[in-house]
Order: sequence, then C-alpha cells, then structure tokens
Amino acid sequence: MKTKIKFLDLKRQYLSIKNEIDEAIDKVIGDSTYSGGPYVEQFEENFAKYVGTKYAVGVSNGTDALHLAMIVLGVGKGDEIIVPANTFVATAWAASYVGAKPVFVDCDSNTWQIDPKKIEEKVTKKTKAIIGVHLYGQPFGIDEVIKITNKHKLFLVEDCAQAHGALYKGKKVGSFGQIATFSFYPSKNLGAYGEAGAILINNPSYAKRLQLLKNQGSIKKYEHAEIGFNRRMDGLQAAILGVKLKYLDNWNKRRRAIAAAFIKRIKNAAITLQKQPEWTSPVFHLFVVKTANRDKLKKFLRTKGIETGIHYPIPIHLQKACKSLGYREGDFPVAEDLAKHCLSIPIYPELTEREVETIINAINDYEI
Ligand SMILES: *Cc1c(COP(=O)(O)O)cnc(C)c1O
Repeated sequence: MKTKIKFLDLKRQYLSIKNEIDEAIDKVIGDSTYSGGPYVEQFEENFAKYVGTKYAVGVSNGTDALHLAMIVLGVGKGDEIIVPANTFVATAWAASYVGAKPVFVDCDSNTWQIDPKKIEEKVTKKTKAIIGVHLYGQPFGIDEVIKITNKHKLFLVEDCAQAHGALYKGKKVGSFGQIATFSFYPSKNLGAYGEAGAILINNPSYAKRLQLLKNQGSIKKYEHAEIGFNRRMDGLQAAILGVKLKYLDNWNKRRRAIAAAFIKRIKNAAITLQKQPEWTSPVFHLFVVKTANRDKLKKFLRTKGIETGIHYPIPIHLQKACKSLGYREGDFPVAEDLAKHCLSIPIYPELTEREVETIINAINDYEI
C-alpha cells in the first residue's frame, strides 16, 4: 500500500486524548455554560500562568485578539503600525480595522523573521506600534526590536499565533511586549476544536477593558460602559484547551525532536533551511524549506505520498486587498523570494519515526 503522510492529522491527536476530551465536553454540556463562564475563566488563569503574564483574556479567535489589542492601545486613524512583510494577513488587517496603516518591513534572509535592522527606517512620527510575529514558531529578534520600541516610545505587540510555548533566551514569548495575542485555530500548536484566541497582558486596566470590549461593553447584565463587541470564547473551547494545555510542552518537545532530525539529516544542496539562532527555542509550528523550483519539489513529494503546504504564496503587500497601500513587486525582496520558493513539510507531534524517516529520505532523493 502506498504511504500517505498528511500535512496535518488532527484526528490522531484527538484519539490520543479522547477520553479526557470527551469527558471535558460532557461536563460543559452538563453545566450548559456555553459562552464565557467558569471554564473560560479557568483557562484564562491557566494560560496566563503558562505564558508568564498576569492576565489572559480569552476571545473568539486570533484575528479578533489582534483587533482588540489595537483598540486597547488606542491605535486609530492616521497611525502607522509596523508589521513584517512575511506573515499571515491577519497581522496586518489588525491595523486596518482601526483605520491605521500597516507599514511592512522585510525579513532577515537567514531567519526569515522581521529584520530589526530594517525597522528604524520605517519609523515616522505616526508610528504607534510594532507587531512582531514569531513566525513558524521561531521567536524573532526581540531584544533588538525592544531597543527600537523603547527609543521611539512605541508599543510592542507580539503575535504569538504560531508560537505557543516558544522560548526567547529562556523566557516564553508572549511576555515581552505590552500585549501579546494568541490564536487557538485548530491547526495551531495549541488548537481548539473550533475558533478561539487570547490576549495576554500584565496591565490590569488593559485586562479590565478587554473583558468589557469582548462582551458588548457590559459591566453587568444590561449595563454597558462602552460600545463593545461579541468576541467571547466558548465554554467548550476553553474546556478542550484546558485539557490540551497540559500536553503542550510534551507536544512541543516532540516537534523539536522531529525538527532536529530534519535539520541534522536533510542533506540536499537544492534545499535551504531556516536558520535557528542559538538564543531561540522554537516550537516549529511549521517546518519551512526553500528551494529554487518549489512546485517541482511539491509535486515530487506528492508522488512519494507526502502532503505539503505553502506559508505563504503571496506576500501581504502584493495582495489585491492591499492595492491602495501602493506597494510593488521588488519592495521586499526577501519576503518575495520566500513566497516564491518556500514549502512547508509535515511536522506534528503525532508523526511516527517511520514517517519522519520517509520525509527525510524523500527530500534527500529530490533532484532539481
Ligand atoms: C493563525 C494566525 C492568526 C489569526 O488567528 P485566527 O485564530 O485564525 O483568527 C494571526 N496571525 C498569525 C501569524 C497566524 O498564524
């Protein structure tokens, strides 16, 4: 029978913790606490403790978390927000939602993260914040970015959607800036069984305001202090995430072990790997490689039964949606090169040793 290695296999993970998950779901349904409520509060407490911040505010998804972060920081019309050119679109949308302008910065050609050396030339009087993204689960150069945010009095927002549990110089990401946002989209390292996200903060007044904003501005039933949103987290998602949080470190450990095998044993002159600076302990949400003819490699791996992904094929500044921002091809050569040549190979804790072996051998067999 032909081997088939899926890009992601969420069912395997579910089956490995089925009893606990089913029990947690039954409990929420038994209590009928579906929207917000004690399971959400419990998860907020546990997740804040995990990341190392004072507060976590559970919300509807990672995109909404970024939007609420912009609101609570007071970002608005006329402001500029610096974001990496290589990230998922939601990072940049956050600025646009509040009438601010996303200003892109190219990535470093080795780490593929936002290049701190290219940030300062983009800072203007209108710049209010930098949204750094720990892309693919690898922390960006936080110290260098913080030097810039301190010097110019900017906020630092960490988009941790791909980096639950990743360490920068031994400390968990999500605790460095004024605000951090997480996504619990099902495919993320810590994934819900539907939509969910969180905002992590140390500032008590931000925490209080975010709790209001996500719940119609309500201070108590039918009393509204301001115009808010419905961005609550579901009780079911909170209970599921609560179970999965206990396994996150082990799952990340397994991802690191698989990545270590890839890094050590992928030996093919046609393939370039992302550089891992020694001060990071990434969590490998994705394992991305670069090659001259990406589509050919993708096709080749498919014939070997290996599914792959592309993160991301079109950089944000060249998206149709960003036309009015006036960017052109050639503006961000590193991000554009990545978009053309990157390929994500399967990496998830449930991959077997044999599957890891198959992936390594297939990539080493590839010829341009
Ligand atoms: C997934 C993701 C988001 C958005 O999260 P959702 O929960 O899907 O809204 C934002 N930023 C990055 C970098 C992401 O990977």
